[in-house]
Amino acid sequence: MADNAGTLYLVSTPIGNLEDVTRRALRVLSEADLVACEDTRHTRKLLDHYGIRTKTISYHEHNERERAVELAARLAAGQTVALVSDAGTPGVSDPGYRLVRAAIERGAGVVPVPGATAFVAALTASGLPTDEFFFGGFLPARSMARRSRLSQVRSLAATLVFYEAPHRIGDALRDAREILGEREAAVARELTKLHEEIARGRLTELIEKFSGEHAARGEMVVVIDRTVIADAAADQASAQTESIAALVAAYERDEGLDQRAALKRAARRLGLSRDEAYRRLVAERARDRSD
Ligand code: SAM
Repeated sequence: MADNAGTLYLVSTPIGNLEDVTRRALRVLSEADLVACEDTRHTRKLLDHYGIRTKTISYHEHNERERAVELAARLAAGQTVALVSDAGTPGVSDPGYRLVRAAIERGAGVVPVPGATAFVAALTASGLPTDEFFFGGFLPARSMARRSRLSQVRSLAATLVFYEAPHRIGDALRDAREILGEREAAVARELTKLHEEIARGRLTELIEKFSGEHAARGEMVVVIDRTVIADAAADQASAQTESIAALVAAYERDEGLDQRAALKRAARRLGLSRDEAYRRLVAERARDRSD
């Protein structure tokens, strides 16, 4: 750390329940020269709740680049900056990384003040193994990219954890069932809030629960087991609906096949004629474009 340089504190704040904040977090927020936050009005509510009067400045995905330079200059001049996000731990599927890099480059101290983060709360309460896990942040919004991402993690020997938006949860679970096969899973919704719910079951059961008119509201985390449930009927159903576009993409990427060879391979795996496989590929891509 450079002489006279200040300190950047990465302060975790609640993911819903305002009591989920540490005493140290409150002290650091009240002693800092400045609190950098995604939404100043949102963070002001937390600060007001605890009688903290520190000045705030916005730091969000749209001004991250310029603000990181500006805040790093303040740190280099000896100021103390506390970074928070709207909820949970800054830098976890939230802005933070650029500022941390800039602070390190300017010789400032970087000090975490740990606390709530949604994926850890969801994972630990899911009932699925916690010894090894993979946190993938938000799954891609478009189906083809989402299936391709799921294909990349299909054979990991780890519990899979993703953030997901409520209007995509049904589609994401369906893609997960198709690409990963039937598995135990959990959807942790509105953690620490009034309507907290942790739905546990097979992917097929969760698809049922979170589709159509039962679509859920609120913030949610999806947790998926590493083990495929050996169930011939489920496997067959899954193969029949498996995404051919994702399979073709996986063969192209992982095995360096050209599209023609990848399609032939995918057709064989799905028990389809090459014509039928091609028709399905074109239909899926058209569907993805209109998503
Ligand atoms: N920085 C945050 C953290 O440490 O968890 C994550 C911020 S990210 C922009 C917001 C996503 O986190 C939501 O879309 C949801 O997937 C998840 N999330 C945040 N709060 C949650 C809660 N109370 N219950 C369930 N999921 C939550």
